[in-house]
Amino acid sequence: MTPSQRYYHITTFGCQMNRADSERMAGILEDMGFIWSDNPNDADLILYNTCTIRDSAEQKVYSYLGRQAKRKHQNPDLILVVAGCVAQQEGQKILRRVPELDLIMGPQHANRLGDLLQQVSDGSQIIATEPIHIVEDITKPRRESTITAWVNIIYGCNERCTYCVVPNVRGTEQSRTSEEILKEMKILGKRGYKEVTLLGQNIDAYGRDLPGVLKTGRRRHTLTDLLYTVHDVSGVERIRFATSHPRYFTERLIVACKELSKVCEHFHIPFQSGDNEILKAMKRGYTQEKYRRIIAKIRDYMPDASISADAIVGFPGETEQQFKNTLKLVSDIGFDQLNTAAYSPRPGTPAALWVNQLSEDIKNDRLQRLNYLVEQKAAERSQRYLGRIEKILVEEKNPKDKSQVMGRTQGNRLTFFKGDINQLKGQIVDVKITEVRAFSLTGNLAYK
Ligand code: SF4
Repeated sequence: MTPSQRYYHITTFGCQMNRADSERMAGILEDMGFIWSDNPNDADLILYNTCTIRDSAEQKVYSYLGRQAKRKHQNPDLILVVAGCVAQQEGQKILRRVPELDLIMGPQHANRLGDLLQQVSDGSQIIATEPIHIVEDITKPRRESTITAWVNIIYGCNERCTYCVVPNVRGTEQSRTSEEILKEMKILGKRGYKEVTLLGQNIDAYGRDLPGVLKTGRRRHTLTDLLYTVHDVSGVERIRFATSHPRYFTERLIVACKELSKVCEHFHIPFQSGDNEILKAMKRGYTQEKYRRIIAKIRDYMPDASISADAIVGFPGETEQQFKNTLKLVSDIGFDQLNTAAYSPRPGTPAALWVNQLSEDIKNDRLQRLNYLVEQKAAERSQRYLGRIEKILVEEKNPKDKSQVMGRTQGNRLTFFKGDINQLKGQIVDVKITEVRAFSLTGNLAYK
């Protein structure tokens, strides 16, 4: 390490959205001349990109910060940054706990990191949490993968789910224009990226803040139209999108996914609860019957489509019968993957103030029962792959077995098989599936 070089380290908590923000912030730091350091203790700039969905993640940030704050006492030039949702939610309060911090910045400010650090180097301690119009990203993100990339298409969320902090921390919806998204995807295609996941907190809201209504009364800019716009970008072979909202999911979107060959037949549509009373209390805006109809419609058009979702157990007031309604939905639908969580009251959300909170014991017991069912169902879903030839986009070596590479099926199942990563990385190859597990597959390269 030469004395003039400056190093940075970013620790990211939470969702894909945070990981995408971290990649953009890393790109900005590298444009400023910073170099990535694996070891945070060698870094001159430490950035924690935080998540406030679970209390445990929030507490972890404070413990990491405590250690780095001590380091700053020895090395006053160390720059400490807290970004993301905890920064947005707690703002000034974090400074009271950790006065050594240089910069506290909410997620809407991620693209402004360079300007904010300039103000820090002028000697200011900065809190950037005010709502702003998100500036178009002009830097190139430092992406974790060279094969798959995320592209934000809409920031923020206008929904008001009663358990969720996102609208408080990520602000109102702001869609990027289709021109900007297309431009970014063309660059990715040229750089060799094979798969793009379009991201939005509620991706079905894409375009509703952009101007333009067609004569038919339909909005000019929708996710469906965007898929048609970006589909033919050369080099990009697969397109995914997340996260879908059952309230706004349309048959037109399903038809587009069926028609457009690069769009993967994989849908991530959180249902959160299988009980209508709980869905109402969550302010989700749909019933479990509507959710079932959406999945049935997808399967009408694409019988093999993969379906994944998110679910919460132990929401305030959830009875045993209401929880069983969630189990029933999971059992009936048979998800390929389900992200489950026990409800965790988050500050600033309506449900956190309700008096009918459940005990941790009940929540944990329900979570375990749900997870057991999820694994059984995912294992059943995996059976359909046995003996089939699947198209796998090869991403990396298998870290646990160097003779193997790993990639994903169209439906997003992780798949391992013997092969040389130097020859296969970034290729879509045929693999005959010989072994199936709940959440992953093993196979052999199928030679034609
Ligand atoms: S749709 Fe609901 S759960 Fe999703 S980010 Fe918006 S408020 Fe949160």
